[in-house]
Amino acid sequence: MTRFDALDRELDHWEALGRPATLWLRDDDACADSPALQRLLAIASEHAVPVTLAAIAATADSTLVDALGACDAASVVQHGYAHRNHAPAAERSAELGDGRDVNVRLDELRRGRARLAQAFGERFVPVLVPPWNRVGDALLPHLPAAGFAGLSCFGPRPSRDAAPGLAQVNAHVDPIAWRRDRAFIGADAALERIVAHLAARRAHACDADEPTGLLTHHLAFTGAAFDFVDDLLRHTRPRRAAVWLDAAHAFALRPEALICCR
Ligand SMILES: [Zn+2]
Repeated sequence: MTRFDALDRELDHWEALGRPATLWLRDDDACADSPALQRLLAIASEHAVPVTLAAIAATADSTLVDALGACDAASVVQHGYAHRNHAPAAERSAELGDGRDVNVRLDELRRGRARLAQAFGERFVPVLVPPWNRVGDALLPHLPAAGFAGLSCFGPRPSRDAAPGLAQVNAHVDPIAWRRDRAFIGADAALERIVAHLAARRAHACDADEPTGLLTHHLAFTGAAFDFVDDLLRHTRPRRAAVWLDAAHAFALRPEALICCR
């Protein structure tokens, strides 16, 4: 018995079906280089697994650009604008909620998108990750015209496209218990959630084509949380059924969409 037995059995099912169990790794809140970021990038590089960093557009700095430049496994998507909470006091935190005018939000996002595209060049993939995974419905139809081809929140996506021209691929497993002192939930609990999402996809209890997203927060991660990611990648990378996708493939963005959006 190892802690990976249930995941192995699940991957066996996918292999028998001849279908890839697609997965992706999204890391939120990147701003600057740090030992924690280096740890994450080293793990991704060692296993040659792509990592998608959601960078805070207004504050991402040159140390982040340099750190990513040295890591072939990393691509960048846009984590809102300044990661500032604009929600009324009684409501849950949100930067992009419908409480603010659509054009005010779009102006910020366009500015942020231009900044990240300029700083990260081809590493930048025009996908929006709303801070706190919350975005007002009124904003969604305007995002493609503002240069975004994808959206990523949390939980099973309601449909393949959040709006015409806006592919949605969410994260599904967050191994941090934010309301319990930001503690790591533990490798077994995290694995259980990954297996549960894969099994739900296989049973068509949710969208079978949505890649299973593991969400990391390098700045909140402890050694045990990093070890879990390291062990998971080491274990799954050799499995033919487990396919870790980069952002462009997770969102099935065509090369021409990437070029015209840059
Ligand atoms: Zn965030």
